[in-house]
Amino acid sequence: MKRKKHHNKEIEKAIKYAESKDWRFKRVGKSSHTWGRLYCAEESRDGCKISIWSTPRVPEDHANQIKKAVNRCPHNGGLE
Ligand SMILES: [Zn+2]
Repeated sequence: MKRKKHHNKEIEKAIKYAESKDWRFKRVGKSSHTWGRLYCAEESRDGCKISIWSTPRVPEDHANQIKKAVNRCPHNGGLE
């Protein structure tokens, strides 16, 4: 399945990073602020998720938030 690229390259990089850790991207239709969501490998409701904004004020900060959420995720432990 193809994913649309985020127009900000820092955020696109963060999304790629998340995907490399088995996070899944889902498009969000209705909100104009939220571009999409990332869900970790844990598919239950205990799984982590993070919203990706379409136009964050400071894209680098938002990219860091995404990477932090990925690094904080406890559900992928032991794979490395
Ligand atoms: Zn998780």
